[in-house]
Amino acid sequence: MAFLNEHFFKLKAGYLFPEIARRVKAFTEANPATAGRLIRCGIGDVTEPLPGAVVAALHKAVDEMSVRESFRGYGPEQGYDWLRAAIAQNDYRAHGLEVADDEIFVSDGSKCDCGNILDILGHKNRIAIPDPVYPVYVDTNVMAGHTGEANEQGAYAGLVYLPCVPDNGFVPAPPKEPVDLVYLCSPNNPTGAAATRAQLEAWVEYARRHEAILLFDAAYEAYITQPGYPHSIYEIPGARECAIEFRSFSKSGGFTGTRCAFTVVPKTLLAWDDKGERKPLHPLWLRRTTTKFNGVPYLVQRGAEALYSPEGKAQVRALVEHYLGNARILVEGAKKAGLTVFGGVNAPYIWVQTPPGLGSWQVFDKILTEAQVVITPGAGFGSKGEGFFRVSAFNSRANAEEVARRLQALKW
Ligand SMILES: *Cc1c(COP(=O)(O)O)cnc(C)c1O
Repeated sequence: MAFLNEHFFKLKAGYLFPEIARRVKAFTEANPATAGRLIRCGIGDVTEPLPGAVVAALHKAVDEMSVRESFRGYGPEQGYDWLRAAIAQNDYRAHGLEVADDEIFVSDGSKCDCGNILDILGHKNRIAIPDPVYPVYVDTNVMAGHTGEANEQGAYAGLVYLPCVPDNGFVPAPPKEPVDLVYLCSPNNPTGAAATRAQLEAWVEYARRHEAILLFDAAYEAYITQPGYPHSIYEIPGARECAIEFRSFSKSGGFTGTRCAFTVVPKTLLAWDDKGERKPLHPLWLRRTTTKFNGVPYLVQRGAEALYSPEGKAQVRALVEHYLGNARILVEGAKKAGLTVFGGVNAPYIWVQTPPGLGSWQVFDKILTEAQVVITPGAGFGSKGEGFFRVSAFNSRANAEEVARRLQALKW
């Protein structure tokens, strides 16, 4: 007799995007005449093709794989040395941050890393999670049995929720109570808010005082345009003793379908074992990676390496500028429509307040039926997301301009 993981039944199972897909399908089937006008600003996926430097590196790597002399089989599970060195040098040491090559673990995505990290952390940790939030942080903890049941609003017993609301600029301050693990995402999906240096200093101070660990998701780091917003948690003194950083090439290099990311685990980061000793996490993450993973494809790692070439860097900048240009257009459009708008400056998302009296799913339906634009209702990201909706700037310029025009034309 085999048993399954009971914790899966607690999940508010994949409610958000399937529900969006269901409503879009129902609308397009009922309205075939306008269905062709549909513009999707829902799911956070890039739209523009891979940078030329990446494409060239991929082609070259395919040619290498096609001859015996340069063919590669299994590579190092934690990534090829040349990619780890390029990352540590360009993303950290070039900015004066101390990160060694072997503290970089190359992976097939930050989504996986954010979930997998729980393998090396204990089950007794008190866990703090922002609300609204990237659903992966919550759901992976539910699956791991770190929570009780969810209540009516979808909040799970046992988690400490950190409300992200206009009053705190959508960046939570450390809670009064002690917790052991804290998820932070800056710039933020879904709110588009970035944490300031002072806000991150408060978190590092809190983490050190409580011997807690910060799980810092910097997937949108490339979108920071304003000074005073750290690109890495390691810009804060003391963070090497209390933080793991996740970064991804998905939103910077357009790698959502190509798959490559990395996790930084400093060798100076320690946590407690059951015998009351503090031990480094780095050997555990290495062991976990070499046991459960066989590495990112050679081709893909060559593609990622090309993002650090001079041409690659310029092309990434251009990509990011393109999406941020869309974000500016969307912010303007929503403002002209009389809506209250946040984000869109240091992130490819704009976070819009729903007009008084309207819930985020009602706004979703209105924008779908009257403007044929798909947005994401804030309620799908957590109870504090109710009263807001997210508009993604991942689109062509023409689509962003059209969405801005249609938002302005809406009557509330
Ligand atoms: C898109 C995104 C990621 C990146 O995930 P990948 O698996 O690397 O594609 C990570 N965190 C957040 C919050 C994201 O929105």
